[in-house]
Amino acid sequence: MRTQVAIIGAGPAGLLLGQLLHRRGIDNIILERQTADYVLGRIRAGVIEQGTIDLLDEAGVGTRMHDEGLVHEGVLICIDGVRHRIPLKELTGKTLMVYGQTEITKDLMDGRAAAAAPTVYSAHDVAVHDISGNAPRVTYRADGKSHEIVCDYIAGCDGFHGISRKSVPAGAITTYERVYPLGWLGILSDTPPVTDESMYVRHPRGFALCSMRSPTRSRYYVQCSLAEDIDAWPDERFWEEFKPRLDEESRERLIIGPSIEKSIAPLRSFVAEPMRFGRLFLAGDAAHIVPPTGAKGLNLAASDVWYLSRAFIEHYAEHSDAALDHYSARALARVWKAERFSWWITTLLHAISENPFDLKIQLAELDHLFQSKAAAMAFAENYVGLPY
Ligand SMILES: Cc1cc2nc3c(=O)[nH]c(=O)nc-3n(C[C@H](O)[C@H](O)[C@H](O)COP(=O)(O)OP(=O)(O)OC[C@H]3O[C@@H](n4cnc5c(N)ncnc54)[C@H](O)[C@@H]3O)c2cc1C
Repeated sequence: MRTQVAIIGAGPAGLLLGQLLHRRGIDNIILERQTADYVLGRIRAGVIEQGTIDLLDEAGVGTRMHDEGLVHEGVLICIDGVRHRIPLKELTGKTLMVYGQTEITKDLMDGRAAAAAPTVYSAHDVAVHDISGNAPRVTYRADGKSHEIVCDYIAGCDGFHGISRKSVPAGAITTYERVYPLGWLGILSDTPPVTDESMYVRHPRGFALCSMRSPTRSRYYVQCSLAEDIDAWPDERFWEEFKPRLDEESRERLIIGPSIEKSIAPLRSFVAEPMRFGRLFLAGDAAHIVPPTGAKGLNLAASDVWYLSRAFIEHYAEHSDAALDHYSARALARVWKAERFSWWITTLLHAISENPFDLKIQLAELDHLFQSKAAAMAFAENYVGLPY
């Protein structure tokens, strides 16, 4: 087979890139290790920035998001039972949209199917070859047969555990990493959310997050140890741990129901530099990870795709490689700012350190955030998403 851009991974980064390229007449094939149902079943992100919304519109898949997504104009931070609100729209003129990653993935898959663009699910042993030359190749196995795609470029959109980043020769890549000594125990439940806007909770028992996917579906998290076993957390134990961390109003509004999904996610910051090796370009979680506190992972995957899609369009339409050559530097400039914000909000709101000095610094920083318009503005500017 021959295509212009071979895309590895049908997560949000791969599907969005495929759709944007297809609409500009650039051929692409997506190879995905899992089945489509498996990809759709992964419960992950839910808060999207204006830049991501605009890209989904450009990809022609934004209609359902605008119909069903919830627009948020502010965010709540609850400290030891007292709520504070950061008025995002008032401070920045921008809002956020609550719309689940599974829904975005479904809309992108439907858009791709309608365009009859090729996606190979259950593609095994995907491997990249000759990325330093002018005719890179991707090989894989599907339906018991071996296949090869010859292409102009490869987009590695295969997430943190994918093969793209690992295929780069040792020494050509520098990685930066911080692993936090905690995880998030999350529960999805078909119950009305306790708040109308997302609420971050800092409490002596540990961090909690009250978020939602719709007016009838809640997504709640509590900070947990990395050693926790999910089987040791029946629903009752989760609610017993979650409820005391809330303020009085939320406790009264809390409706407890059975979980429809429950999982533990470790918290990690990670960046691989550069994001290009010859004709292989990395995008999304394949190149970087943020702790979920800042709700930036999916949005960073989208901004990478914005830079990369523009670069491919410029290459094919104008025969210029300038944007491809600048892709890594441009994407990383935004990635590192989101890494900084995600690290900062994580250390600000979690019980991480047992040193009383660190605790006092957290409280002083929060007090400053609530008292100072400049501090609130800096928070809001990052939270709604920095410009591309
Ligand atoms: C619990 C949790 C909560 C989160 N909450 C938020 C949030 O609120 N806001 C936010 O912005 N982000 C959030 N994130 C992060 C967000 O989900 C990711 O950043 C996002 O999925 C990245 O998209 P991606 O396409 O780069 O990677 P992925 O979604 O990981 O997609 C990569 C795809 O590549 C496929 N693949 C892997 N290896 C291979 C291979 N060898 N061959 C072929 N295919 C392969 C995978 O199966 C997968 O489908 C959260 C993540 C988790 C885990």
